[in-house]
Parts: sequence; C-alpha cells; structure tokens
Amino acid sequence: MLYIYNTLSRIKQPFKPLHEGRVGMYVCGPTVYGDAHLGHARPAITFDILFRYLKHLGYKVRYVRNITDVGHLEHDADSGEDKVAKKARLEQLEPMEVVQYYLNRYHHDMEALNVLPPSIEPHASGHIIEQIEYIKKIIESGYAYESQGSVYFDVAKYNKDHNYGKLSGRNIDDLLSTTRELDGQDEKRNPLDFALWKKAAPEHIMHWPSPWSEGFPGWHLECSTMGEKYLGEEFDIHGGGMDLMFPHHECEIAQSVAAKGHDTVRYWMHNNMITIAGKKMGKSYNNFITLEQFFKGEHPLLTRPYSPMVIRFFILQAQYRSTVDFSDSALQAADKALQKMLDGYRRLQALVPAEKSSVELPDFAAKCYEAMDDDLNTPMVIAELFEACRYINQATDGQITLDAADIDKLKSLFQTFLIDLLGIRVDSAAGEADSKTTKAFEGAVDLLMDVRKNAKAAKDWTTSDLIRDRLAALGFDVKDTKNGVEWKIK
Ligand code: ZN
Repeated sequence: MLYIYNTLSRIKQPFKPLHEGRVGMYVCGPTVYGDAHLGHARPAITFDILFRYLKHLGYKVRYVRNITDVGHLEHDADSGEDKVAKKARLEQLEPMEVVQYYLNRYHHDMEALNVLPPSIEPHASGHIIEQIEYIKKIIESGYAYESQGSVYFDVAKYNKDHNYGKLSGRNIDDLLSTTRELDGQDEKRNPLDFALWKKAAPEHIMHWPSPWSEGFPGWHLECSTMGEKYLGEEFDIHGGGMDLMFPHHECEIAQSVAAKGHDTVRYWMHNNMITIAGKKMGKSYNNFITLEQFFKGEHPLLTRPYSPMVIRFFILQAQYRSTVDFSDSALQAADKALQKMLDGYRRLQALVPAEKSSVELPDFAAKCYEAMDDDLNTPMVIAELFEACRYINQATDGQITLDAADIDKLKSLFQTFLIDLLGIRVDSAAGEADSKTTKAFEGAVDLLMDVRKNAKAAKDWTTSDLIRDRLAALGFDVKDTKNGVEWKIK
C-alpha cells in the first residue's frame, strides 16, 4: 500500500484514489520567461517518480502540468509587470514567441533528465474564458469584489467562514500585522487580498476583454481553473515545490472553496527546496545555475560538466521532502556513485549463470517496493540496489555463484527500479563509456606523436617515418606545424 505525506493533514496517509484504477494529478509547471534551473529539476523529477510509480502500480494516470505564461508578476503576485510581457518588451518579441522559445528549451532539458511528458500541458493563456467564468462564481459567492477594473479575493471575509492558512499553517492575524504596504494596494480592502483579475496598464501587452476591464487573470487562478477543467471538481493529487505552498496553493484552496463550496484536492504534496553550497538560490547570491550550465559545466561554481543522469541521480539520493544541497563536490560524489551502480548493471548483464547459487539472495524487490510505498523513499531504493551490486560484484569475481533464476531476478530488479521507476538511462551511460573510449583513443594517438617527436629529435628517422606511414595507412592525416603536430582522421 502506497503511503504519501499529505501536507494538508500533516501525516503520511494510505493513498486511495477517488475513482478506482484512475488517478488525477496536477503539478504546478514552469513559468516560461527564462531557462530552467535546478529549482525546476526537483519538482519535475519528484512528480515524475510519482507518475511512473502510480502507472507501475496499474493506475491509469492523468497527469496535468501547466505552463504559466500570463499573470506571473514582478515583485509580488498582484503588482508589477508580467514577467513574460517584460521579456517580450525587452527582446522585441511577441509574448508567445518568448513562451515558445523557453518552453522548447524546458522540454529539451526535461527530456535530457528523462522526465516523462505529462498527459496534458495546458497554457494559462489558452484558458482565459474559463478563468473569467471562475471569477464570476467567486464574485457570486460573495468572496470577491471589483475595484477600479480589477477583481480581488476578499481574504478576511473568506477567513471568517473558512480557514485561510490551513495548508501552510499560517495565522491570518499574524499575516495582517506583517504584510507591508505595496503599490496599488489602495484598490484592495485588505493588503492580503489577492488579484483574480488585473486591469492592464496601457503599456501592458498581454490583455484580454472581461466584464471588469481589459486585463489579465491573477496567477493563482490558472491552477484552480485548469485543474478543475481537466481533472474535475475533485481530484487526487496536487503537487509542487514547497515555495508554492504559500501563497500560491493557499490561494488555490481559497478560490476553489469560494467557487465550489468545497476543497478540490485530496492529497497535497510538496517537494523540499534545493540550496546551492548551503545558500538559498537567489539573484542576490548569483547562484542560479541553469540546467544547461550543469550539462555543459559552464558556471564558476562548477569544475566540469555533469550529465543529466548525474543530476537526476543526485536529486533521487534524497527523499523528496528533505533538503538537498548542491555543490560541485557533492555532484562529483553522485557521479562516482552512479558509475558504480552502472558498473554493477553492466556486470549483471555479463554474468554467466552457474548450476546452483551458493548464497541466498535477499528479497531486494520486496524491500524496494516497501521503500517506494513509504512516501517515495528513493534513497532507500538506491541503497538496496547498491546492496544488490555487492552480490553482482562477488559473482563477477567468482566469490559466489548465482543460478539463472537468481540472475533473472536481479535483472528484473534493475529493470523495474533503476530503469523504469528511478528513470536512470543506462544507454546514456554507454554514451559516457563511449566518450571515455574516445578520450583514451585520443590520448594514445597523442602518445604516438610524442614518441615520433622524440625519435625525430634523436634523428631516428626509421622510427619517426614508421609511425607516420603506419598512421597514414590507417587513415590518419598527420601534419607538422609551427605549434607541434596536428592529427586528424581523413
Ligand atoms: Zn499552480
């Protein structure tokens, strides 16, 4: 039985879907005005593991991950400029060009990380009509008001009837006393009220007609609207990063309770955050490392490139609710650990079965299922796979023997847990092995060049000509230049 930690109830609960055999899950997706960085990788990988596991358990899963392409504002959720619109203005592009450009890059990064595409990837900008209808319902229920062409959610009124803050555990009175005054708040009855619809300023390039003004929807609204549209008025799982718990998800709950009279989501799940060398990721720390920078090794905090599988493996070495601290040395350790795991996998494929097993294998699969069922405890799964590697290595070295049935069991263990559920690509490891071979090959040719150089210096023309001629016969083009010898394959 799968247990997942529900942020709302604050306990691990047995997972029971609303409809037998089917699961609806919604995860807050990227805001597409910049390249994906590490902060995007963790929720994507966390919920990819959940998606894979639920499907493995036999559920038909509808996984919705939205694209935020409107209403995500600078400063806070209610004021400032739309981030997509700002990028479009600065780069003289259509807003949808900005969205498509970064969305393509996001997909490319996710593919590299072996994150499966969701079932539906709806754009906020494609659901303006639905969002307007949703606002109308909240106004009808009395929990929203119009003010100078904008519509705000009435937090204080809502909190009197319901509990605003139940997800994040925040106390609204504390919030009221700590909320600072912001621009445009004179439109609001209360500084905590959040925008459902914003009237567009004249320079704002993304706007739509509505009963209240030419404007655009507030950010929190898209997830309530699209979640309901694709998963129904009640659905199983809503996920996202812990940073979205407040205010984003708190506002989503308030919106759905206001519009429908009840909660929409049964299980709220939040992955913890990633720090970099002990610090929060933030512009002021200059430590935003994009995924592409990781893959290419192009950042002052990195000593070399790291393959997407190393990043994925590193993230999975921690349970999703614990913090992860990224550093170059931690990544090097993850790389080593992954190579060790892949060595075990390769040795397993090459094992020759013995007549009889000389040891009794532990029930690794049962232990791995137990770990996955315990709120997706991926580090535990990895530990079990390493333990399995120990047996494989012993069998390879001849210290123990394994029969065909045991070898098959281990093969299916690695297929299920390493490849299918943890989503580690073993073929890209082969790619890495290829690049190792290439490096060794280039080093060997360079070595021959050095030998030839020494031979020439010693006026040993026989040796130097032999090397040149034999390499030429093999298809090498060797040239003596001012800077030394250059070679390539013709
Ligand atoms: Zn959301």
